[in-house]
Amino acid sequence: MEFGNLFLLLLMLIALALAWYSGYKTQLRVKYFPHKNANKDYFIGLNYLLNDEPDQSIDTFISSLEVNSNTLESHLALGDLLRRRGKVDGSIAVYQKLFANSQLNHAELNQVKLGLVKSYVAAGLLDRAEKLIDELKVAETEVKIAALNQGLIVYQLEKEWQKAIMVVNDLLKLCLPNQRLGFQIRASHFYCELAEKELEFEHYNQAKKYLSNAKDMERNNVRTSLILGRLEFEQENYKQAIKALLKISSQDPSYKVEAFDLIIASYQALHDQNKLQKFIESNLQEPLSTTLLLMIIAYIKSTEGKDKARQLLFQRIASSPSIELLGQAILLNEKTESDSTAVKFNQILEEFLENKSRYQCGSCGFDLKNLHWLCPGCNEWGFVKPIDSIIEEPKS
Ligand SMILES: [Zn+2]
Repeated sequence: MEFGNLFLLLLMLIALALAWYSGYKTQLRVKYFPHKNANKDYFIGLNYLLNDEPDQSIDTFISSLEVNSNTLESHLALGDLLRRRGKVDGSIAVYQKLFANSQLNHAELNQVKLGLVKSYVAAGLLDRAEKLIDELKVAETEVKIAALNQGLIVYQLEKEWQKAIMVVNDLLKLCLPNQRLGFQIRASHFYCELAEKELEFEHYNQAKKYLSNAKDMERNNVRTSLILGRLEFEQENYKQAIKALLKISSQDPSYKVEAFDLIIASYQALHDQNKLQKFIESNLQEPLSTTLLLMIIAYIKSTEGKDKARQLLFQRIASSPSIELLGQAILLNEKTESDSTAVKFNQILEEFLENKSRYQCGSCGFDLKNLHWLCPGCNEWGFVKPIDSIIEEPKS
């Protein structure tokens, strides 16, 4: 049991026990224990607690409280506690019992609806959640904001990006100034999702419109440049593709590695060897991640030969040794490609690296093998980055 839950439970117990033993027995029975079995419920609840069944114990304590404005918070807290402990069905049952109660006013019923929305979302009952979220759009501001945030979760799960964008626009009107950027980043990614879908069907103009919306929401979203680069490349607008992809250096250089191959391919399609060479040299002048260095070494090996590639690698390896660079060094140092020791070593290395995470979320630390814009660990957008974006400085 989490410490917070245990603490809440103990507080409830202490409050009930103190009141019972301090001479207010009669008054308490009238006010809080309207049912004749109230004292019995207390001991049943205590028994559940002693038998390490805290949910049943709280449920029993709470069921001894009638539903009214004074006790609503306790009932809502129970629903919340059950949901957080994964007992979603029990949580929904608590809210539904409250919902059926006619003593609650309109604002109180909205709080119950909000609790029910959260439990529906947790249970995956998204249609039901969506219906209640629509109803709560006219609720008091605080409840409305909480409901809209639940709406964001629902539409993300359903991949209903247009609806999710509408929710963000509502939230941008209501949120605090320091929350704006977070919502804009999300909306920017929602537009990117729409753009990628259009790109899949080669609807280039519509995809460009969505990318423009995405940039309006957050101009430093690297993903907009990567998609635009791909879009221009597919349309054989290679100069435009390069222009879009080079922008990543100023947006967030950690992602340069994601654009490298496409930039090389664009220069090659333009047969612009000069600019390609300058691009490689400019990369070598800047701090470099291991992955990007390996990509450059592979490119140099394919264009200028093994000796040049080995020369570059041996210049760099001392300042930031890694297992990937050492593996490459052994391969490049062998006299022939078919050298059995080097090939064997390379196989072992590849198997080892196959299981290694290449990306990590900067928000929750979740490790991933592929780039995900939405972190599966914390549900935040745009925090997953290449893991070796810790970069080595170029040697002077
Ligand atoms: Zn995360």
